[in-house]
Amino acid sequence: MSDKFDVIFIGAGPAGYVGAIRAAQLGLKTACVDAFTGKDGKQALGGTCLNVGCIPSKALLDSSRQYWNIAHNLPVHGISVEGAKVDMATFIGRKDKIVKQFTGGIGQLFKANKVTPYFGTGKLLKGNEVEITAPDGGKQTISATNVILASGSVPIELPFAKFDGKMIVDNAGALDFAEVPKRLGVIGAGVIGLELGSVWKRMGAEVTILEALPDFLSVADADVAKVAKKEFEKQGLAIKLGAKLTKAEVKKNEVHLTYEDKDGAHELVVDKLLVAVGRRAYTAGLLADDTGVKLDERGRIVVDEHCHTGVDGVWAIGDAVRGPMLAHKGSEEGVAVAEWIAGKAGHVNFDTIPWVIYTEPEIAWAGKTEKQLKDEGVPYRVGTFPFAAIGRAVAMNEAVGQVKMLAHAETDRILGVHMVGPGVSELIAECVVAMEFKGSSEDLARIVHAHPTLSEAVHEAALSVDKRAIHKGN
Ligand code: FAD
Ligand code: NAD
Repeated sequence: MSDKFDVIFIGAGPAGYVGAIRAAQLGLKTACVDAFTGKDGKQALGGTCLNVGCIPSKALLDSSRQYWNIAHNLPVHGISVEGAKVDMATFIGRKDKIVKQFTGGIGQLFKANKVTPYFGTGKLLKGNEVEITAPDGGKQTISATNVILASGSVPIELPFAKFDGKMIVDNAGALDFAEVPKRLGVIGAGVIGLELGSVWKRMGAEVTILEALPDFLSVADADVAKVAKKEFEKQGLAIKLGAKLTKAEVKKNEVHLTYEDKDGAHELVVDKLLVAVGRRAYTAGLLADDTGVKLDERGRIVVDEHCHTGVDGVWAIGDAVRGPMLAHKGSEEGVAVAEWIAGKAGHVNFDTIPWVIYTEPEIAWAGKTEKQLKDEGVPYRVGTFPFAAIGRAVAMNEAVGQVKMLAHAETDRILGVHMVGPGVSELIAECVVAMEFKGSSEDLARIVHAHPTLSEAVHEAALSVDKRAIHKGN
């Protein structure tokens, strides 16, 4: 028996589920197939992001921040708390509850929008049919005019430090430790290493991060990376750069690491090891041999600028294709594809996708870094403003970091904004709006910003591009 749809999404992560809802809103008969199984053994919609990514990591970041503040920030305010304790079951249980609330919420949204969910692994067959293998092995085939592949990504495994789910873990394992590890090793000072390393450092672990590259956070603007590294080290994160792991051996309840840096080989013993060296597109079992869908040299599904695979009616979006592995990037691609299929004008502007790292201080940026502009020979002016001169940040005792704005030297169009400091995950949105509307630093400089707010740092950085910041020397 073959159920026929207008569109089938394979994968219900932020790319697939958002695209499916938009397709259904546009009147398309829509199905969404997903295989993710939650802790309760039932289907858990939302993919990596809701189950083991964005949402649970932010839940633990927030809980750990509250705990850290007791000892490290409250005394400055004249508040002391004696004998603070953490109940790990509540700490992890709160995160699980939030995950369940949001994954369950997608089920309700599917119902409200008449998206038909299927639980199982979907395989694209020739002719836009999708074979679904349920968790019990049962098979059925559905078909559609359009199939959108949104199968996401999985963590990269190092051959000499294989995940065992207990001692050597990926993001999912590091979001579920039953106890705070005394010593946590982290491989990779990328986004996951820094966010989850911060969680467990705040909870009391001794955290050592080994990063293979000689530069810290080289995807970010160099000034931002410099401030962030200094602050993380002040918090006690041990960050070793140019450090290549060569061996990881589990011995009893410890993981014995060997790594090499410019000074030679070193040993490090930890109680848990988080390997966070990047993610790769996941396409295992997704494609029958004769579909014609191509993968690139990194295993990503090949698509054009409209997320089309080149095979009639087959599209791909999210982490499984080129571009940054970010939830909001995938969601916007999902929406755009649904709109293209419905004959509307979909749109994703890759030049203004915001990046946020939810550490303390937070890091956020959009657009080009100063290095990229230099390399491309683009003439630019720079404006900066430190949070140390922002009244609200000082009142919060979080006056760390700065906003840096890069604008074209001739047109003044904003080309990039780079921030490290309090609340910058929210402040970046204003800059993205300005950039999307092709705004200039002068535009932001002329907009009234409420006082006293953190957003005044954006205003002053914009003024500083033209050397007329008010609350610092220019
Ligand atoms: P996924 O979310 O990976 O979803 C793919 C889904 O498809 C999964 O449910 C999978 O089970 C299913 N699937 C795969 N193959 C099949 C198949 N053949 N049949 C059926 N189902 C299948 N991004 C941010 O923007 N902000 C953050 O704060 C953030 N934090 C993160 C924290 C962590 C720890 C991690 C690991 C990632 C984080 N990310 C964050 C990245 C974000 O999670 C991903 O970019 C996003 O989930 C990608 O969405 P997606 O829909 O493409 O894929
Ligand atoms: P990443 O690419 O951010 O960082 C991986 C780091 O590991 C890099 O610095 C890399 O140089 C280093 N590395 C690679 N191989 C190594 C090795 N053998 N030894 C030591 N270091 C090594 O990857 P990630 O942290 O695993 O996260 C994956 C992706 O998930 C991110 O790129 C991002 O797209 C997404 N994510 C986003 C957020 C967010 O938006 N806040 C949070 C978490 C994850």
